[in-house]
Amino acid sequence: MEKKAEVSPLYEGTFSVGTDKKFKRIRKEDSPEKGALKLSIHPFLIQEENRNILFDAGIGELFGSDTSIKTLLDNLAEHSVSDYEISDIFVSHLHFDHFAGLAHRDNGYWELTFPDSTVWVSEGGWKKLYSSIEKEDEDTQDFFNFVDSKASIEFLGEKSSPIKHVRSKTIGGHTEFHQALFYENGEQKFIMAGDVIGRRISINRNFAAKFDFDPKQSMIAREELKEVACKEKYTLLAYHETDYPMFKLIDHNPKKGYTVKTLS
Ligand SMILES: [Zn+2]
Repeated sequence: MEKKAEVSPLYEGTFSVGTDKKFKRIRKEDSPEKGALKLSIHPFLIQEENRNILFDAGIGELFGSDTSIKTLLDNLAEHSVSDYEISDIFVSHLHFDHFAGLAHRDNGYWELTFPDSTVWVSEGGWKKLYSSIEKEDEDTQDFFNFVDSKASIEFLGEKSSPIKHVRSKTIGGHTEFHQALFYENGEQKFIMAGDVIGRRISINRNFAAKFDFDPKQSMIAREELKEVACKEKYTLLAYHETDYPMFKLIDHNPKKGYTVKTLS
């Protein structure tokens, strides 16, 4: 029998994010600064017998002096995984706080953080970013051009199952080509839906978010994923959740909504 996989959130911190898009580190229990958003960051590590998979690649160092690649590498070390042992990275969508961890600067030179990994991204999303990258600041352009030329990028289609146990589906919504990522290994079932289900609060409050590319599609996709997660007993992996990034929906009541059972 195959060994069970180990799925862990890799906590990179909680941040107050203002309109300048800088991420200021705060404590979990703190409120964000006035007019700012409170966001936590959790890439997820899936350890299998022969593979170490990441769902999203962390914040990296593009978002101000409170962000760096060190937290992610320290987190991996705690799970006895080195940077060279990450085999596959799946990116839910191409906002930089979800994939800037792919590269960092060492003595001023860009380096791949996970040199031996295949990076799976949506084809439409990558091409769209490629054609509009000059709108970003210089650091971000350098980062993107470096990753584009040096990483082993592979494209995901509308629906893909590129490696055993992992499949993806384009759901759109938050970004035009946003992916839902599924990990299915026997009884072990996980869904990571990036910012479409970024926090626990989005479970029983289905809101149209003005920062979404297509707020209505985001709501539709969110409803569908919640229904599937509840019926088919998936664990949801919530990238921006502060306290409990892994949870299940164990019951649905038309009046009260979903009962959430937190796992971590
Ligand atoms: Zn996000």
